[in-house]
Amino acid sequence: LVSIKSNIHSILNSIPKNVSLIAVSKTKPDSAILEAYNAGQRIFGENKIQEMVEKHEVLPKDIEWHMIGHLQSNKVKYMAPFVSLIHGVDGLKKLEEINKQAIKNNRIIDCLLQIKIATEETKFGLSIEDSNKLLESDEFKKLTHIHIKGFMGMASFTNDETIVKNEFRILKKYLNSTKNYELTNFTPSILSMGMSGDYKIAIEEGSNMIRVGSSIFGERNYI
Ligand SMILES: *Cc1c(COP(=O)(O)O)cnc(C)c1O
Repeated sequence: LVSIKSNIHSILNSIPKNVSLIAVSKTKPDSAILEAYNAGQRIFGENKIQEMVEKHEVLPKDIEWHMIGHLQSNKVKYMAPFVSLIHGVDGLKKLEEINKQAIKNNRIIDCLLQIKIATEETKFGLSIEDSNKLLESDEFKKLTHIHIKGFMGMASFTNDETIVKNEFRILKKYLNSTKNYELTNFTPSILSMGMSGDYKIAIEEGSNMIRVGSSIFGERNYI
């Protein structure tokens, strides 16, 4: 039997104070989220917009909802009224849609650009080169209602810690290299990297935001 409360507390006790913990609650029921909430957790991550919207409707309103999954542009409108950070932005088209929905809701929506650091084919994200092109484009400068606060990355799924370490290191180095950009809608400080299996390595390599699911809620049942 897992104790969500003790899992959260043991993670919080083992990470530096400057690192935010996102509790990844995808596929988990409201009761599990409430258990984490009652243990003091306020930031939750979901990877499907519809599921996040349904949970937002019924759960306490002081929860900060982070969208960590691959985005479908046609669904951005459903989360635009409340989402607090979108981690998985991987292109200008999606940013333009988020900006459009943010304007409708009279908000500025915080986002992270997802950078592909793993060599696996399955991982989404921009290359560093395409991220620079995006940040330097005239189209990007026109997006007044989004604010890019940093980057998100997922390391390769491997037991080889050297590979994982190097991938995280590349993203930290990239974040530092972008601090010279002078743009009002881009102030990079957040580095969202690290999941249950690799957050300790990620923090060693400079992560200040970790997305942890199974180490808090137990294993997920995939359909
Ligand atoms: C599911 C998911 C996580 C959490 O994974 P765990 O291994 O359960 O901690 C983190 N980030 C993203 C993008 C995810 O989809």
